[in-house]
Amino acid sequence: MAQHVRGVVARSKGAPVTVETIVVPDPGPGEAVVKIQACGVCHTDLSYREGGINDEFPFLLGHEAAGIVESIGDGVVDLEPGDYVVLNWRAVCGVCRACKKGKPQYCFDTHNAKQSMTLEDGTALSPALGIGAFVEKTLVAAGQCTKVNPEAPAKVAGLLGCGVMAGLGAAVNTGGIGRGDSIAVIGCGGVGDAAIAGAALAGATTIIAVDTDPRKLEWARGFGATHTINAKEEDPVETIRSYTDGNGADVVIEAVGRPETYKQAFYARDLAGTVVLVGVPFPDMMVPEIPLIDFFGRGGALKSAWYGDCLPSRDFPMYVDLYLQGKFPLDKFVTEEIALDGVDQAFEKMHKGEVLRSVVIF
Ligand SMILES: [Zn+2]
Ligand SMILES: [Zn+2]
Repeated sequence: MAQHVRGVVARSKGAPVTVETIVVPDPGPGEAVVKIQACGVCHTDLSYREGGINDEFPFLLGHEAAGIVESIGDGVVDLEPGDYVVLNWRAVCGVCRACKKGKPQYCFDTHNAKQSMTLEDGTALSPALGIGAFVEKTLVAAGQCTKVNPEAPAKVAGLLGCGVMAGLGAAVNTGGIGRGDSIAVIGCGGVGDAAIAGAALAGATTIIAVDTDPRKLEWARGFGATHTINAKEEDPVETIRSYTDGNGADVVIEAVGRPETYKQAFYARDLAGTVVLVGVPFPDMMVPEIPLIDFFGRGGALKSAWYGDCLPSRDFPMYVDLYLQGKFPLDKFVTEEIALDGVDQAFEKMHKGEVLRSVVIF
């Protein structure tokens, strides 16, 4: 029997979101229905509402969630009702060219539920990032459910499902930051701060936070930044060099997604250093003009990180365990707990930079 539950829908471009009745079908083959316990408000949800991702309205928003598996469809073998899971948007297929090369973290054919959740009138919903989790119960592909230790509260565990993993993975997986390394992070919202926390966990000894907002620099300190730079007051490139013996950082994370900050990241890294772009640019932005000789002469690597190059089955349980052991401060990302009807207000606070994460609690 299909179930009727409440969820947050973006009906048209730029319009406020609404709480609607959502029809959730029983899980088909390879699918699972998950009772959501908590779901973080991510910038990508706002981008969907603004029409910045695609035009496939109406969207069922939310994708950074944890909950309990309620039911499973035929053929699901590694999941049972009652399992505590974090939802992921990279349910690896196992057979695409990336998976075949043994690099499932780049899987090009990730799985989502085949059936649609709908509005009461039958209109199919497009779930954000193939999840849709600002809803009491959601339908996903079974592979989108990653089991983690149930001792971690849903409001913190769920954050690994998107933003925190993106930043953490940008530093640790994509950037390859390690013991004794130096790192600079440009843009200290949730993703940038997760990169800082990841670098601290990995043993980086110089962790430089760059932002224009003193409040964000304060947050960055709390996550392990050893130096902070207010880019309104100091030149970030020169100051990053001054904190790294005049050389630049081994890894620079660009968590803003703008040409001017990308250019800063390019020149703020050491020779043979790595730049990781994790901030999401607008489609009309261009690569900044940089002399080609500088690309050649400085060597190193210019990378982009999608979902922190994570492998949910490897990374989610590990970081939940590290959180439970007091080694990774997942809980510090939660600024406020809100109800299902508070998502639009949370977007506003996020836009103004007042919160790291608002989390919807069910
Ligand atoms: Zn694949
Ligand atoms: Zn997200």
